[in-house]
Amino acid sequence: RFRPPATTAFLEARRARQQSQLQSLGEKLEQLGSQLETARKDSTTDALTQLYNRRAFDEQLVRTVELASLRAGGAALLMIDLDHFKQLNDTFGHPGGDAVLSAVAQACVRVFKGKGDFVARYGGEELAVLMRDVDVASMSTLAEKLRAAIAALEVKHDGRVIRLTASIGAAFWARGELGEAWVARADAGLYAAKAAGRNRVVTA
Ligand code: GH3
Ligand code: MG
Ligand code: MG
Repeated sequence: RFRPPATTAFLEARRARQQSQLQSLGEKLEQLGSQLETARKDSTTDALTQLYNRRAFDEQLVRTVELASLRAGGAALLMIDLDHFKQLNDTFGHPGGDAVLSAVAQACVRVFKGKGDFVARYGGEELAVLMRDVDVASMSTLAEKLRAAIAALEVKHDGRVIRLTASIGAAFWARGELGEAWVARADAGLYAAKAAGRNRVVTA
């Protein structure tokens, strides 16, 4: 039916207003989404190494065990601890130690760059790697590759070159094993690697 021009103008204005409200709501949602994503990333990332943090590792451990329980593919865990790191800090200073940690983290990511690989900073100078769809042989090969890559690092800091080694405990997931027991087994391997003289991989 006929509308006087004033009413049409009013309706037009209302439609335009609603349109712009919808648009800003969409923008707001998008912004919130990306903020959440950033927050999620912040809460799972270690600031120094940019690796996943302990909290993310604990979650991934549970997921990895659940997945391995449901499927045929095997899962592997490495616990990596830098050798004589206290001494390294004493010699090169804490910033030197930090530079080494970052370099080791990068080396680790270069070795474990597969879709099913998960690299985390487990604690101070301890890293952990979770692997999916691997067998014992490839776990050992990759652990040894990482050990060699760390031993070959030459970290430049303050005009000096820092060299270091790491000890690695490796544990292949045993059917029915809980995450905690799996970590304890990898830790036992790590402890054995330290006791045997460091700069080596021991499979538990
Ligand atoms: P080991 O070969 O037996 O592992 O000897 P270690 O000296 O590495 O022994 P330990 O694990 O007890 O020492 C770890 C040291 O790592 C102690 C701590 O000062 C240092 N550390 C932990 N976190 C950081 C960090 O974020 N930056 C630096 N620079 N040092 C750290
Ligand atoms: Mg250490
Ligand atoms: Mg340690």
